[in-house]
Amino acid sequence: MSKLSITDLKDFRNQRALVRVDYNVPLDETGAITDDKRIRATVPTLDYLVKGGAKVILCSHLGRPKGKRDPKQSLRPVAERLAEILGRPVAFVDDSIGEKVDQTIGIMQPGDVLLLENLRFYAAEEKNDPAFAEKLAKNADLYVNDAFGSAHRAHASTEGVAQIIKKRGGKCAAGFLMEKELKYLGGALSSPARPFVCILGGAKVSDKIAVIENLLTRADAILIGGAMAYTFLKTQGFGVGKSLVENDKLDLAKSLLEKAKGKKFLLPSDHLQATKPEAGATTRITDGPSIEDGWYGVDIGPQTIARYNKEIAGARTIVWNGPMGIFEVPEFSKGTFEVAKAVAANKAAISIIGGGDSAKAVKQAGVDKQVTFVSTGGGASLEFLEGKELPGVAALSDK
Ligand code: AMP
Repeated sequence: MSKLSITDLKDFRNQRALVRVDYNVPLDETGAITDDKRIRATVPTLDYLVKGGAKVILCSHLGRPKGKRDPKQSLRPVAERLAEILGRPVAFVDDSIGEKVDQTIGIMQPGDVLLLENLRFYAAEEKNDPAFAEKLAKNADLYVNDAFGSAHRAHASTEGVAQIIKKRGGKCAAGFLMEKELKYLGGALSSPARPFVCILGGAKVSDKIAVIENLLTRADAILIGGAMAYTFLKTQGFGVGKSLVENDKLDLAKSLLEKAKGKKFLLPSDHLQATKPEAGATTRITDGPSIEDGWYGVDIGPQTIARYNKEIAGARTIVWNGPMGIFEVPEFSKGTFEVAKAVAANKAAISIIGGGDSAKAVKQAGVDKQVTFVSTGGGASLEFLEGKELPGVAALSDK
């Protein structure tokens, strides 16, 4: 079912729009914002609402204050930065519910912007407590969710509040940022241009089981890298040395390989192995899929890079989630960066990068501007790829 978009909202002048954004920005020790990408990313949604004369009430979480007030995790600096970016005043209240909030909203004018304090100063937020959601919803005529990165959590500000506003006859729509996520990730799953190639890496098979199972039914090829490859290779009898392996997931890996029979499910055919999984190690390329005793697998090898890049070059849709090796260590980053470059070089394909480490990798490889879309939500994009309906998306109004 497709969801209401912000562009479907018309004639909202003078209406109070509660907007869930993701302003969970990184801060340094002094409390200064070190990267304001997430704030800038919400500008199209805010501009649209301000131009249409809405009273814009922003809410977000920041960090993990776990239900306690922590001045170090206040959103006040974000309000200041947002005001600079928008070139207009942004009011701030040091609470997200209650009398002070109600009073401030009561005197807002069309086009005014207000940021509420960190929602997670209340434990009720993450508990999706109905009374808390009711207090948040009280001051809103409509709701916009632009926080894809939090949409996999059923919290009061992502789920509860939308249900209440909908019940009252108010509209709940996806913001521009959220819409983009749904368009690219949703499009890849429901109607991908083919061949559809998925690249999956990272540390653990166990984190990606549901993704693999879902993608096996949709993708034309799945390319496996990262430490999770070793768990698969071990079940096939190859040596894994001292590599990171989930020994309690061998049966599971075996059953995934069974399900993948007849499909293009590629595992590394060579590796970069190292004497320790850290900088300064002695390294060597393996002769085949086995890692020698006493050595650690730390990256995919040159033959694997060439095999994977060939698949990537022929793809028309690419989804990538998880690095091919310990890319944080420069000597072990080649496989991940080569894959990033191959994805970026395929201009004929729609290329979608899952959040988290893969997003970091395309940035470090210098190709983040050359891929079609980099998701803003690590956990959320993973759950989306599992085929799950995200609570924050499900709660929005249907078109
Ligand atoms: P994930 O969060 O599951 O996507 O995993 C990302 C992490 O997997 C990164 O921090 C990588 O360093 C790690 N990783 C990837 N390949 C390996 C490997 N061969 N051995 C150990 N860790 C790895």
